[in-house]
Amino acid sequence: MNSQLNAAGEKREVRLIDVCLVAIAMLLPAAATAKQAGTCTAGATLRLSAPEANQGSLLLIEIKSTKPLAEVQGDWEGRSVPIWQEATSEKQRKGLLAVDLEKTPGEYELKVTGQTADGEIMSCSAMVTVKKGLFTTEKLQVEKQFVEPSPEQIKRANEERQKLRDIFDRVTPERLWEGNFRIPLDGVTTGSNFGKRRILNGNPGSPHTGMDFPAATGTPVRATQRGRVALAEELFFAGNTVVLDHGLGIYSFYGHLSEIDVKAGDALETGAVLGKVGATGRVTGPHLHWGLTVERARVNPLLLIKLLSSPSSEVTRKKPSRPVTD
Ligand SMILES: [Zn+2]
Repeated sequence: MNSQLNAAGEKREVRLIDVCLVAIAMLLPAAATAKQAGTCTAGATLRLSAPEANQGSLLLIEIKSTKPLAEVQGDWEGRSVPIWQEATSEKQRKGLLAVDLEKTPGEYELKVTGQTADGEIMSCSAMVTVKKGLFTTEKLQVEKQFVEPSPEQIKRANEERQKLRDIFDRVTPERLWEGNFRIPLDGVTTGSNFGKRRILNGNPGSPHTGMDFPAATGTPVRATQRGRVALAEELFFAGNTVVLDHGLGIYSFYGHLSEIDVKAGDALETGAVLGKVGATGRVTGPHLHWGLTVERARVNPLLLIKLLSSPSSEVTRKKPSRPVTD
């Protein structure tokens, strides 16, 4: 479920003209003002950027203690939660709660546990309501030959999906990023299609797992933050693809590139060119497909930029000026 690609879903995108100008930025939550959300022991507080979360969204977690903290871990439905310390604030931690875009709506418990420097056990708990995401749905009738890959192509796509799952399952324990994340294209403020559902010839497909940014072939694609290249190769659906590992279970995905300019294992700085925009794989025109996976949850990448940036540099809500294809 975690791969950026899905044979059942992406095969339905073959050669389709996306006629929809697409509603965008549907998932942006209220401004990231942390509210008291949990109950804690040892004089600690737990705050979340919003009391509830839509499918495909992220919440910022803030933990504050009256005493220096030695270690802190988070648990959300059996998966660890990325938690880190910024600068020298030993009494504070930040974290990210990631809600997969297909997570069943309901109430879930976030648990944070740790230890203060003097050995006192600290634990926090918060109930988080997951709500259905507001994704657009598009119904299309297309010729069968355009939506059904051959058995060999399906086999290849399934192998690649498993390879991506294995990558996203690995959690690099160090935080490799520092500071704000950025959109991978210069001069672009927003994208479209995240979470969009398609119904083709009456059959519901898998949701679209990333953001699409239409751009000219050859436009430089830049690393959203510091990270290590986890994958740099051609995939059946996503074409030339790069996956960056940012540490703590956070991965960014760049698809349909015309060329790849890095190789697996490379360490990249924020803004480093990793490839060029293209139309490789199953697409209708040149664009960048940008995805974000946090502890296997597929989330809206623009939300990470919003949550980790200062209030003055929030993501602008703006409609794209031209149609988007994918
Ligand atoms: Zn896409």
